[in-house]
Amino acid sequence: MINGSCLCGSVRFEIKEPPERMNICHCSMCRKVTGSAYGVFAHIRSDRFRWTSSVDSIVEYESSTGHVRAFCHTCGSSVPNVKTEFACIPAGAFDSDPGVRPMLQIFAGSKATWYAIAQDPVAYEEFDPD
Ligand SMILES: [Zn+2]
Ligand SMILES: [Zn+2]
Repeated sequence: MINGSCLCGSVRFEIKEPPERMNICHCSMCRKVTGSAYGVFAHIRSDRFRWTSSVDSIVEYESSTGHVRAFCHTCGSSVPNVKTEFACIPAGAFDSDPGVRPMLQIFAGSKATWYAIAQDPVAYEEFDPD
């Protein structure tokens, strides 16, 4: 079992198998939401995701149409968004090895001016062409 939680532990979850994918996103919204150079998000089918705590402390913000960012209202950590077919899990929330590594970088064209992008994994200017 692969487990995750927010900083204060109010929000906990588990997945039974490694996520299908993990991406690094350099867009300005992911920078704001993480307070860092980029966001790292894992994606797994929502039916393979399970909350192991109450979800009462989760609050949501729609950062762009149809795209919800979820947070713990106690500690402010990003937490998974499972509103769509694929759960979007902030990779920093994992407490155990998720068994997947970043496969690509997106929105490299919007990266922070103060951050130098690594050569690996492959970086796209905007969305993944797939
Ligand atoms: Zn929390
Ligand atoms: Zn992004």
